[in-house]
Amino acid sequence: KAHQPSMAPSLHAWDSPNGAPTPMPKRLEGKVAIVTGGARGIGEAIVRLFVKHGAKVVIADIDDAAGEALAAALGPHVGFVRCDVSVEEDVERAVERAVARYGRLDVLCNNAGVLGRQTRAAKSILSFDAGEFDRVLRVNALGAALGMKHAALAMTQRRAGSIISVASVAGVLGGLGPHAYTASKHAIVGLTKNAACELGAHGIRVNCISPFGVATPMLINAWRQGHDASTADDADADIDLDIAVPSDQEVEKMEEVVRGLATLKGATLRPRDIAEAALFLASDDSRYISGHNLVVDGGVTTSRNLIG
Ligand code: NAD
Repeated sequence: KAHQPSMAPSLHAWDSPNGAPTPMPKRLEGKVAIVTGGARGIGEAIVRLFVKHGAKVVIADIDDAAGEALAAALGPHVGFVRCDVSVEEDVERAVERAVARYGRLDVLCNNAGVLGRQTRAAKSILSFDAGEFDRVLRVNALGAALGMKHAALAMTQRRAGSIISVASVAGVLGGLGPHAYTASKHAIVGLTKNAACELGAHGIRVNCISPFGVATPMLINAWRQGHDASTADDADADIDLDIAVPSDQEVEKMEEVVRGLATLKGATLRPRDIAEAALFLASDDSRYISGHNLVVDGGVTTSRNLIG
């Protein structure tokens, strides 16, 4: 019997009737987004993907050189504003700039974060430094809360918006990072739920993403220090001041370690994989999702590999 063409609707709306692929729709057309920590790593991947999907994006970062270079490379729909997310005036100014330049704010991606010191002393509850604890909480937790506050103030006027924060699997499980980092990421998951409850009445969705093991400068630097006997016990070594570009070999090695922990065969988590989750939460495809923590970890947290 001759094959009859199916009358069922195509699985992909962007497939043309004769099966030839047509360009994928832009999922953020006309939207304006701020991405904090957007100058490199996961944030950079989010900026690039949002722009590809038609958004106008403001990069808010403390790294002027990298942020300005990325904005210049991506064209007129991308701007840079220097912003330390732990400073309220900076966050307020970033939101004002986005609205002044592009007319509105639809999406805030609270991605900026720091891991904090990785020395043994710094990682122990018996010897951690209170000043360092405060610093990490201010950037990761207070920074996310300030972003929510000022983005929501701008979004309530239009009664719509999506706020996405990058937490971590260290916001879900214990034993994965220094205490301050773990506390700050658990704080983001809690803040997300609370803010979602309050802001839903204004049409604003609030979600977070919890990645694991993406070979960015943050993770490579932490891994470097952990493997370097000369710094592992040095209470003064500060990983955040020592940001070097990871070598290809280091990235490959890190990815191999993560693949070994993932339950999903061959999972190699890259910044783009986290950006895809952010795109989903930013777009109207997730219009009824709020208060959710989307874990992107290759199935690591479903197994006992991490604690076994
Ligand atoms: P990264 O260190 O490579 O990049 C972080 C970016 O944030 C940099 O551009 C940096 O300049 C910026 N930044 C730092 N402090 C800031 C501040 N006070 N104000 C504004 N910008 C600031 O890190 P990454 O791996 O790309 O991490 C991005 C986010 O993802 C972080 O919140 C991190 O905790 C989270 N995360 C990363 C991983 C991973 O495996 N890489 C896993 C879980 C969660």
